[in-house]
Amino acid sequence: MRLLIVGAGPAGLYLAYLVRRQLPAWEVRIVEQNPPDSTFGFGVVFSERALEFLRADDAETYERITPQMEAWTDISVVLRGAPVVIDGIGFSAIGRLKFLQLLRGRLEVAGVFPEYGFALRERENLGEFDLVVGADGANSAIRKTADFGTTVTPLSNRFAWFGTTKVFDTLTQTFVQNEAGFFNAHHYRHAPSMSTFVLECDAPTWMRAGFEHMDEAATLAYGEKVFVDALQGHKLVSNNSVWRNFPKVRNRRWVAGNKVLIGDAQRTAHFSIGSGTRLAMEDAIALVNALSRHGKDIPEALAAFEAARRPIVDKLLAAADASGEWYERFPAHMRLAPRDFAWSYIQRSGRIDPKKLRRIAPRFVSGKQS
Ligand SMILES: Cc1cc2nc3c(=O)[nH]c(=O)nc-3n(C[C@H](O)[C@H](O)[C@H](O)COP(=O)(O)OP(=O)(O)OC[C@H]3O[C@@H](n4cnc5c(N)ncnc54)[C@H](O)[C@@H]3O)c2cc1C
Repeated sequence: MRLLIVGAGPAGLYLAYLVRRQLPAWEVRIVEQNPPDSTFGFGVVFSERALEFLRADDAETYERITPQMEAWTDISVVLRGAPVVIDGIGFSAIGRLKFLQLLRGRLEVAGVFPEYGFALRERENLGEFDLVVGADGANSAIRKTADFGTTVTPLSNRFAWFGTTKVFDTLTQTFVQNEAGFFNAHHYRHAPSMSTFVLECDAPTWMRAGFEHMDEAATLAYGEKVFVDALQGHKLVSNNSVWRNFPKVRNRRWVAGNKVLIGDAQRTAHFSIGSGTRLAMEDAIALVNALSRHGKDIPEALAAFEAARRPIVDKLLAAADASGEWYERFPAHMRLAPRDFAWSYIQRSGRIDPKKLRRIAPRFVSGKQS
């Protein structure tokens, strides 16, 4: 069987690795438009149990990546300079580049070498492959080669992804108001001496601040000024840190003929719940399991993949959508007192009710901040 994987992000790399391991007779080709080691963003966070989903079936990958991750157990929510710590909600993080390098290392040991600098075009002839997997992210080219019933809805807030040398103790959400309007930063350390710093603001604030006419350096300087207290003298670092609107991608069908979508090509989950990377890798696991079970019957395997995986993905997307909506209205929430604001924040996705919170975050619920 001949397999083409388009995109060497977390979904594509991990899929190629699993296919090599579980379906050794398959021929695997994986293409990536960018050169190796060029990636956007700084770190990625994983919520709660980090890479536990890999542990049972792929202990080697788990063992290789987990020691490289930063981990912590609290979230800090800072409103108008007042921090509220929510205990017991663990996260871990790693640099996106480091993560991709580790996944690529696993793949190369298995004997598959991604073809970098190869951008698949919409009109490419894909007829020679038995299966084509679109793991090519939110702007997927594969999606445009068939009718997947795609919708892409941009959220109205703007965000830009920076880094900083300031090392934060916890995942922190800092909310600040200035003369232009309302800003939020999602920040956390993803390496011993580096943190991720995602700036976000609502659309009216973005217009009033004049970002439309600022280049990357001016935007960075503005961000440093707004978040001077959080950064405590440290600088922001940019890496293609342009303002974007989060694209909410959905597909009515994940499968069209012998083509299937996984990862962000298939759907995007708002970054505030820290699940996109895990979901992408879990897609790869589910797809390979379906292919293993259904032998050479590709249509049956793809149908089984979608039927089994969709309810799980939909549940997570409901939480991601609710969280994204909360951020779309964050200036209004900022009218709350800091502790009420933290309650609103932690309950935003609908996944943590007061009963669960009492169990996992007793310090926060009791109001006793250490
Ligand atoms: C601001 C922000 C913060 C985020 N933070 C987190 C986080 O903290 N935790 C988390 O889990 N997730 C986070 N995410 C989401 C996460 O980045 C994605 O869910 C994840 O990377 C999806 O993996 P993927 O492999 O499906 O797609 P991608 O990582 O997008 O990889 C797709 C690959 O396909 C390549 N490609 C695209 N088109 C072509 C083509 N035509 N030909 C060849 N190659 C192509 C791209 O270059 C890319 O390398 C965040 C996203 C954003 C926007």
